[in-house]
Amino acid sequence: MAEITIDKDSGFCFGVVTAINKAEEELSKGATLYCLGDIVHNNREVERLKTMGLITINHDEFRQLHDVKVLLRAHGEPPETYETARRNNIEIIDATCPVVLRLQKQIKLKYQHPDTDKQIVIYGQNGHAEVLGLVGQTNGEAVVIEKAEEIEKIDFDKDIYLYSQTTKSLEGFGEVVAAIGQQISNSRHFEYHDTICRQVANRMPRLRAFAAAHDLVFFVSGKKSSNGKFLFAECQKVNANSYLIADADEIDFELIRKAGTIGICGATSTPKWLMDEIYKAITDFLPTDTI
Ligand code: SF4
Repeated sequence: MAEITIDKDSGFCFGVVTAINKAEEELSKGATLYCLGDIVHNNREVERLKTMGLITINHDEFRQLHDVKVLLRAHGEPPETYETARRNNIEIIDATCPVVLRLQKQIKLKYQHPDTDKQIVIYGQNGHAEVLGLVGQTNGEAVVIEKAEEIEKIDFDKDIYLYSQTTKSLEGFGEVVAAIGQQISNSRHFEYHDTICRQVANRMPRLRAFAAAHDLVFFVSGKKSSNGKFLFAECQKVNANSYLIADADEIDFELIRKAGTIGICGATSTPKWLMDEIYKAITDFLPTDTI
């Protein structure tokens, strides 16, 4: 008998839920609504909102628009986006997650502080929308490092103020802190701020336990989601029989025949309805007397 379970802790974080609710609320008023970048790193959810009328644009397209409404997603944006909006009479529907907003303010405040010889370092993924928004608070001056091995990018003749992208791992952040701590001289100041979002970090131990408790795991996530890649890697560490799938078309049904317990889980960008679809595809495949 196969037992299939959806992880109750997987799915959208509150930042993403709020952004999607805002989009749906605006769309229900019937006005044209643009979204700067994918509202969430999940194609299926982006497609669903597209059918409701949401038009996804990139930054080049944004700069060409005038007199329209544009939604900013949970990742946040650098100050120049708001300047462009002011110039082009664009009404901003700001769905920047409050956690990201707080971090942006924290970095801006430190950057504007009159201390000289300071350097702001962000532990994060180069080019990620949230990181671009954070670097934007420092006029593009912050140094981005993706892992402890990249600390040579940092100027150790300056005081160092370290922050983290909200979705990075606590473990990786600890490694960066340790590596900088070993290299910095006593005459320099080193301050680090653990700005990792607990919506993500707290999921990890629970997700690991969930993955370990099942014979077979389907981790549902868009391929562009950095949170998805990261959480999937955690599943694989505890259960080698874990598979990353974007939707039901990617299920290998041969695997299902052999599994006693099947777990379905996902990232902070994975819609609950998509995990329900996977559940349904599996139960439809299995003979009813085996579930
Ligand atoms: S992961 Fe955390 S910081 Fe990022 S959008 Fe979700 S709630 Fe906000």
